[in-house]
Amino acid sequence: MNFHSTRSAADLVKLPDAILAGLAPDGGLYVPDRFPQVDPSQFEAVPPWQVGARMLAPFFQGESLEPELADICREAISFPLPRVATSDPNLSILELFHGPTAAFKDVGARFLAACLERLHSDPVPTVMVATSGDTGSAVAAACAERSGLRVVILYPEGGVSPRQEHQLTCWGDNVLSLRIRGSFDDCQRMVKESFLDRDLQSQVPLTSANSISVARLLPQMIYYAATSLDYWRETGEKANFIVPTGNLGNALAGIWARRLGMPIDRFALATNANATISRFLDTGEWEPGKTIATLASAMDVSNPSNMERLRHLYPSFEEITGQAWAISVSDEQISEAIVEADRTLGQELCPHTATAYVAYKALRTENPDHDPECHWIALATAHAAKFETIVEPLVGRPVEVPPALADILHRPTHRVDLPASTQALKQALLDWPR
Ligand SMILES: *Cc1c(COP(=O)(O)O)cnc(C)c1O
Repeated sequence: MNFHSTRSAADLVKLPDAILAGLAPDGGLYVPDRFPQVDPSQFEAVPPWQVGARMLAPFFQGESLEPELADICREAISFPLPRVATSDPNLSILELFHGPTAAFKDVGARFLAACLERLHSDPVPTVMVATSGDTGSAVAAACAERSGLRVVILYPEGGVSPRQEHQLTCWGDNVLSLRIRGSFDDCQRMVKESFLDRDLQSQVPLTSANSISVARLLPQMIYYAATSLDYWRETGEKANFIVPTGNLGNALAGIWARRLGMPIDRFALATNANATISRFLDTGEWEPGKTIATLASAMDVSNPSNMERLRHLYPSFEEITGQAWAISVSDEQISEAIVEADRTLGQELCPHTATAYVAYKALRTENPDHDPECHWIALATAHAAKFETIVEPLVGRPVEVPPALADILHRPTHRVDLPASTQALKQALLDWPR
């Protein structure tokens, strides 16, 4: 299948080129040129990776990666994605945090790494990613186990939690962790400028792993598909999802899965205080402001880039408002929700997942179309133990660390400190032994 930019359908590219390029040359984001339709009744009760191999086959058709797709899916989704009941019969939780770095980003990062390693591009590009937390560690973990890949991570000094920093710096020789004396915005600027540096690119070819990559979006459809198919077989009904949202990558994958014909009815989006999406759905005005720092820091995004893909798919305001309901959640509501979910649901929620719980309660009181019998599946995007400095004081006890995360936290760390200078970054890349 071909892909093209959200800004022009003139230039068609193949999936491998869309993966390697990251962003389209005109600054747009790659989208598939059509959405093949699936028939849910044709899917058997098989593990999620098999659902993925089948659902994604049309996107890989005719590509060098086509015969590898099943292996790529199996390697990417090498951990369970359970849906667990809560004490509220109308709410269940889809736990996406059983991967190596305890956040849903493991799914996309592992799929991307599995594709990159198999693309056999010569020379193999270096994956470069600026991170404010979960993306960098998921990408590093996914690439570290593949000796053919190299990855450079930039993160802001003082901008990540101690556990997140450990997860960014505990990998092997093929991961270079750079702590930048600057902000996350500085890190992003340095990455962008490096991509434009032809001299650097001729010596150290670069590729991106940020959340606009199609190789991260496509596999994120898998857990929506597998979960909705299970739910539909069990109840005869379509599934409704509540998605904690920052850059809209996770939610967009769900909307794409519904577009393919998976048995999904409604989406509710929960943002933190960065309220650009809910404001837009209320008023039609797209007004990204200054980014606000919140307790759900992985969602601190005021200009969600995947909105461009959603608007491409649903150009009119009427269409787009029909796709999802949205709410913005304050830090105070996040804290209250963590306490309440612990006491009443028996669930330890991370601050991101807590926004979905606030949305669930609001759906029942504020949404005029709400059907009280409606069952919602809230996505748990990270394990509470990743954000222990927030969650532990609220629940009043230590949060148990899952085994994969505990394993990472025992490893030694290596990092290089750099000023917020693109020239210094270039030198570090040229000096890094190949
Ligand atoms: C990245 C992240 C999000 C937001 O996902 P988007 O795809 O940017 O909307 C939510 N929760 C956690 C824990 C994350 O790491």
